[in-house]
Amino acid sequence: MTGISAMSRFFSSKFKGLEPYTPGEQPKDTSYVKLNTNESPFPPLKAVTDAAASCRPLNLYSDPTCSDLIAKLAEVYKISPDRIIPSNGSDETLYFAFLAFCDSGHPAVFPDITYGFYPVFAQITNTPYTEIPLKEDMTIDINDYIGINKNIFIANPNAPTGICLTTGEIEQIVKSNPSNVVVIDEAYVDFGGESALPLVEKYDNLLVVRTFSKSRSLAGARLGFSFGSPGLINDLNTIRFSTNPYNINSMTLAAGIASLENEDYTIENCNTIIKNREYTTDKLRSLGFEILPSCANFIFAKHAGLDGGWLYAELKRRGVLVRHFTKERICQYNRITIGSMDQMNVLISELEDILKER
Ligand code: PMP
Repeated sequence: MTGISAMSRFFSSKFKGLEPYTPGEQPKDTSYVKLNTNESPFPPLKAVTDAAASCRPLNLYSDPTCSDLIAKLAEVYKISPDRIIPSNGSDETLYFAFLAFCDSGHPAVFPDITYGFYPVFAQITNTPYTEIPLKEDMTIDINDYIGINKNIFIANPNAPTGICLTTGEIEQIVKSNPSNVVVIDEAYVDFGGESALPLVEKYDNLLVVRTFSKSRSLAGARLGFSFGSPGLINDLNTIRFSTNPYNINSMTLAAGIASLENEDYTIENCNTIIKNREYTTDKLRSLGFEILPSCANFIFAKHAGLDGGWLYAELKRRGVLVRHFTKERICQYNRITIGSMDQMNVLISELEDILKER
């Protein structure tokens, strides 16, 4: 974390042991080939940035009901508006879900290797949590979650592995835990995963969380959206209106609507990323990398002859930023965002050089 120094004497003791989430590096130096935070390499359409620039005057507050954006989401995803809640990035809904549904009597459960924010949200909301180990091959064993009777948080595709579960598997988990909320975090679903959205009308305990950050090229705009039963959405709105009713700014609302009016662009970009992912996976495998099967816009890769932390640093020295995690089970891997073909070719040629020099 940047700039965190010793806590002041005023910091509430309830946060004493809190370990904040560490976001990926966002260097000001734009010369890096930036493959570390799963952003889109493609800029938003001009129609999207134009819409943001000419939105509701900024001397007025943004629309707290977000009704235009919700109407557009309802149309695109074919679901009724009372089952939708937008958010300031999907991180916010994940936090709100912990606030709304978890406490000492309602513990949470998630895999040991998954999105690093879940344990942080559990800690800040004082929620007891269990981390269930992924299987040896880094897949989720759904049997671990059947009838577990805890609130469940699953990223599907999982991060940083990229591995996905089928909708049928998600349904078994949701169905077997009717007294608990199951949150399916679909940040990366547009790159080849199966969405649990069709289950939302069938199960009142399912929340499906999505984002504009990855497939829609709007990470910097901070916009997420979630689908659930009207009851769950209502609960999340209670939290929203009790914290920050203007949580989505006017520029972002306008950008989101414009993005949804241009679905072809999103679909085309996702297809390009999938193609670049398959190309990169093949090339890296031929260089001796072991790569988990990814349905996301990143791959998780390790090489028997290269230490994961060393490789991260060496790539950075050569101007390519990837993401390395120090957690023991995955410290030999690096997570590599799939970018443009040019970016992928730079990565591949640097890896070829590194391997030649070793
Ligand atoms: N879920 C997962 C699995 C993620 O990797 C991310 C991105 N860091 C998010 C949610 C949050 O994305 P955002 O807040 O940008 O929507």
